[in-house]
Amino acid sequence: MGLFHCPMGAAYYDDDPCIDCGLCTATSREERIEASNKLRAYLRSHAPRQSAIKKIAVAGKGGVGKSTMVTLLANALRAEGYQVLVLDTDESNPGLYRMFGLAQEPEKMMVMLDRFAPDGLGEDGEWLKRDEIGLDDIPQKYILSRDGLKFLMVGKIEDPFQGCACLLANITRELMQKLVMKDKEVVVVDMEAGIESFGRGVERGVDTVLVVVEPSFESMALAEKVTYMAEGMGISRVKAILNKVTSEEIREKMTEELGKKGVKVIGKVYFDSELNAAGFEGRPLTNSRATEDVKAIIKALLSEAV
Ligand code: SF4
Repeated sequence: MGLFHCPMGAAYYDDDPCIDCGLCTATSREERIEASNKLRAYLRSHAPRQSAIKKIAVAGKGGVGKSTMVTLLANALRAEGYQVLVLDTDESNPGLYRMFGLAQEPEKMMVMLDRFAPDGLGEDGEWLKRDEIGLDDIPQKYILSRDGLKFLMVGKIEDPFQGCACLLANITRELMQKLVMKDKEVVVVDMEAGIESFGRGVERGVDTVLVVVEPSFESMALAEKVTYMAEGMGISRVKAILNKVTSEEIREKMTEELGKKGVKVIGKVYFDSELNAAGFEGRPLTNSRATEDVKAIIKALLSEAV
């Protein structure tokens, strides 16, 4: 793991190819654009055209309810009989584990980082260097399990001068590309807010991107950007979930506006005061209207994928 964020990961890992796009040696804006177009074309043409849903990244602007949606989506998938791995990659939001009723955090994967090791990983990170990683290959100390749920945290920025989050993003990208999910296993990833992770290519390994959108101009603009970035990586299943919807009229307006931006909507979650109360108190989400809304979204998503 190094300092340059090659979108292919070629600067860090032997098993990722360098496609000689020229991004890392570009010296002008024109060269960077040309390199980006080359990368985009390569990733789109090499994207796996799989229909099954195995790896879902949940993205969106800060404050739209992304972590809440991750919880609801994971619970809805568990209700459909899936073993769900939730991967918390958000470097700042500290409370996702609480939403699942977990009393404590697992060991964060960032403890594997060793700045003095040639590849940035200490001995404890050997498992991450395998070509393929199944759920059983992940050391138990990093996982909290409960009723069809496995919860994993990459790490958080906790101290001043800790450094940037690039190495955490590298762990996420590595894991997402190498994870092999069996039948009825799915990983749901709580991405950091915004689009920086897409610029780093963190989402390369996923087959589905769900972008959470609230009724605001900024949120819908970001959904357009996320769609552009994800499709440019070759991810063909990119859908918006409308959140905090207060009326049918708002739902229609959001769907229309997003449609103009080329963003497809998979479903909506109406504003739910129970969700707000649970979020405020940092307690697990209980049955609510939103729970039913998200179950309908999962059913729609799964039926589209078969
Ligand atoms: S040329 Fe492109 S693919 Fe190769 S290392 Fe540089 S950025 Fe990565």
